[in-house]
Amino acid sequence: MSTRQLHDMGVAELGRALAAKSVSSVEATQAFLARAKADAHGAFLVVDEDAALASAKAADAKRGAGVEGSDHPLLGMPIAHKDIFVTTESPTTAGSKMLQGYRSPFDATVVARLKAAGAVSLGKLNCDEFAMGSANENSAYGVVTNPWDAARVPGGSSGGTAAAVAARLVPAATGTDTGGSIRQPASFTGTTGIKPTYGVCSRFGMIAFASSLDQAGTIAHSAEDCALMLSAMSGFDERDATSVQRPPQDFHAQMLQARPGASASRPLEGLRIGLPKEFFPAALAADVGGRVREALAQMEKLGATLVDVSLPRTELSIPVYYIIAPAEASSNLSRFDGVRYGHRAAKYDDLLDMYKKSRSEGFGPEVKRRIMIGAYVLSHGYYDAYYLQAQKIRRMIADDFQACFQQCDLIAGPVAPTVAWKLGEQGDDPVKAYLADIFTLPGSLAGLPGMSVPAGLGDGGMPVGLQLLGNYFAEGALLHAAHALQQATDFHLQRPK
Ligand code: GLN
Repeated sequence: MSTRQLHDMGVAELGRALAAKSVSSVEATQAFLARAKADAHGAFLVVDEDAALASAKAADAKRGAGVEGSDHPLLGMPIAHKDIFVTTESPTTAGSKMLQGYRSPFDATVVARLKAAGAVSLGKLNCDEFAMGSANENSAYGVVTNPWDAARVPGGSSGGTAAAVAARLVPAATGTDTGGSIRQPASFTGTTGIKPTYGVCSRFGMIAFASSLDQAGTIAHSAEDCALMLSAMSGFDERDATSVQRPPQDFHAQMLQARPGASASRPLEGLRIGLPKEFFPAALAADVGGRVREALAQMEKLGATLVDVSLPRTELSIPVYYIIAPAEASSNLSRFDGVRYGHRAAKYDDLLDMYKKSRSEGFGPEVKRRIMIGAYVLSHGYYDAYYLQAQKIRRMIADDFQACFQQCDLIAGPVAPTVAWKLGEQGDDPVKAYLADIFTLPGSLAGLPGMSVPAGLGDGGMPVGLQLLGNYFAEGALLHAAHALQQATDFHLQRPK
């Protein structure tokens, strides 16, 4: 089998080829390693060739032996991890100078579960520093460029993940989404991404940004690929206090579950898709609105009904998120003090000076900005006015979603107001990027599952993503709807030149 054919495959297709032994894991791993090593997008921070080949050999041996687990759909599958997940094999930096050279003594639960399934990690992927950003321009290790147009950003914070999948350096990779960091880069790169319900994937070993929002997920080429990845990554973990206790889920089987009354030509029969009017403002870029509406028209043809709903506090999700996330970040990042791990300044006078210099040198400007905002909104005299108020509105936003779900099964809209912007275009104004998070933040604040599904190309030939949001634990319904759309259309098959 030629190299070209291999890297064209997504998780499901390559999994079938591996199962049929028409290709070995070593061959597949070598094919993707060659591409990862030639990465022209700055997506990979580390390519761990030796470890990858060793795991691939072990996977082939396991399949050959036919022991338990030798039929897992991810056995021998090349993948890669956002550098926010700690791994024993490669260093973990979270895109920060603060953690340069840091090696974890343990694997994150998500990493360990994918490893146990037999997936082969090729290495670690670039991201915004501590996952703070929407363009991957906040990484201490350089920008990531968009495979569709190297003058544009790939989105963020899982920018390396999205670029690596879009450029076919790896069939699928892990990401995290706190306020949109899986959905928005997937949208910007024409890939398919899923962020499950808060609590579905363990946060153990995922370097914390905003703990009440952080959730792991994946970016791949299709809903089917996402379903296979998510089934392996997710599940209860006693080491994460917010992990949801429930039996392991087979999201692939849920994705295939036919709706009552559905037929082959109308798989979405009876599905009510709510369109919040706030997700289609007059200011929405025409190309984005156009592609999203066209994809929704396709879903209508497949049997879905579109209903008008409202999420009246959509705009408020920006200030609410940019209070809560920095507040939690300022607390989480206090552990990086140069004492036990992380960067320590070379010269300092006393302990306090060591803290100050280590943190000043280790953190980049956006991280410092968030720590300061977070410390401010939590401080005495301002806590009630900002943090507490934000928490109250967060609850109202979650309630608004529940009111919508009385009228519809899924919610749809754009992922982002525009296609990927040019590198450097946001200049020194962080608020511009914050505002562009408007459509992903509400679902994050409510802890709901969401997907970005390719919906065709907009201005500059750049991909547009359709966002689908579901109620709590509706991952199966989301994947089913996205899969039905992908079975009937080829938006997800379009690729950069
Ligand atoms: N763009 C958002 C931020 O900068 C979301 C990031 C994320 O989801 N990790 O905080």
